[in-house]
Amino acid sequence: MQHPIVVAVDGPAGSGKSSVSKAVARRLGYGFLDTGAAYRALAWHVVHSGVDPDDEAGVVASLGAFTYGIGTDPDGYRVHVGEHDVTDAIREPAISGVVSSVARVPAVRTDLIDRFRAIIAGEERPGIVVEGRDITTVVAPDAPVRLLLTASEEVRMSRRAAELAGHDAAKTGAQLRARDAADSKVVDFMNAADGVTVVDSTELDFGQTVDAVIAVIEARTAEG
Ligand code: C5P
Repeated sequence: MQHPIVVAVDGPAGSGKSSVSKAVARRLGYGFLDTGAAYRALAWHVVHSGVDPDDEAGVVASLGAFTYGIGTDPDGYRVHVGEHDVTDAIREPAISGVVSSVARVPAVRTDLIDRFRAIIAGEERPGIVVEGRDITTVVAPDAPVRLLLTASEEVRMSRRAAELAGHDAAKTGAQLRARDAADSKVVDFMNAADGVTVVDSTELDFGQTVDAVIAVIEARTAEG
C-alpha cells in the first residue's frame, strides 16, 4: 500500500464534499486537502493584484508571485496567500464569481496540480483525503480510494444557501449553477470515471454521508 493512502473525492459545488471530507479525515486521523481553496486563493490573489480574472496572460503571470500556504490538518485549517489569511475571504461571492475563469487556464491547472502532488507526497499522517473536481481523474487517478460525492441540484442549492446566510438565496443559486456549468467545460465531475464509487447524499444527513464515505474507504482499503 502506498504511503500515504490517498482518498480522492470529487463532486460539484454544494455536494458537501469539503465538510464531509474534513470530517472523514478527522475520524480516520488522516490529512485533508481542499484543492478548491487553492483555486479560490489564486482568484483572490489575482483580484488583489488588480489583474482581470479573464485576462489569461495576466493570470498566468500572477502565478509567479502566488505564494500559497495550506496545511493538511483537518482541525485548524487555514489558507494563506503570502502574509494574508484568506480563509474567510475566499468564500465570498466576489471570489466564487471569478474562480472558474482562473481555474480554466491550462497553465494554472498544471501549476496547482504539481503543488497538490507535492503536498500529498509530504503528508505524514497515514492517509490524506483530497477533494476537488479532478482528483479521481487527473490529480490522483491511481488513488486506492476514489469517490464521487453527489446530491440533487435542489439539495445542493439549499445547503449552499444555508452556508451563506445573509446573502440572497436566489442569487447564490444562480451563481452556483453558472459556476458548475463553467467548471464542467473543463473537467467532468458529474459522472463517475471507471472505478470511482458514487455516494449520493441527497437523502442522507451529514453524519450518514460521513459514515457512507468511511464505509467505502474501509471496503476499498481492505481489498487492497
Ligand atoms: O470546491 P470549491 O467550490 O471551493 O472550488 C472552487 C473552484 O475551484 C471551482 O468552482 C472550480 O472552478 C475550481 N476547482 C477546480 N478543480 C479542482 C477544485 C476546484 O477547477 N480540483
